[in-house]
Amino acid sequence: MSTSRSSRKPSGKAPWYKDGLRFSCKQCGACCSGKPGYVWVNDAEITGIAARLGLSREDFRDKYLKLTYRGYSLTEKANYDCILLENGKCLVYDIRPRQCRTWPFWPENLRSRGHWDEEARGCPGMNEGMHFPLSEIEDILAGRSETVG
Ligand code: SF4
Repeated sequence: MSTSRSSRKPSGKAPWYKDGLRFSCKQCGACCSGKPGYVWVNDAEITGIAARLGLSREDFRDKYLKLTYRGYSLTEKANYDCILLENGKCLVYDIRPRQCRTWPFWPENLRSRGHWDEEARGCPGMNEGMHFPLSEIEDILAGRSETVG
């Protein structure tokens, strides 16, 4: 029995993105700045990013993380840029947290074409570039895959 999320609605209807969606990150940094939010980091990500920055886990936690109601999140600069954003680029792009690696295929963005297109207004990588078929989107939603870029 599969425990993954199914794209099939209870009604049996295929989701609105049944023909897939396009996305290729342009690394513009827009999603890493502009407004406050949370970027969750798990234990393995904390270890990996700390090592990349040449810090102990403790120093990384003190300087880059905030403890929230549901675990650690990356902290932000005064202007709400992600603490790991430098000159518009992510300092750890190739090992960025899973939350970043699955953008924009988040359940909240896939609720409807309208939600997707609303987010696309702030992300020039959406609706362009690489085609993600339905099966790939399902894998991302189920935690079996992630975007590349
Ligand atoms: S995900 Fe979108 S907004 Fe974020 S860096 Fe890539 S293209 Fe820019």
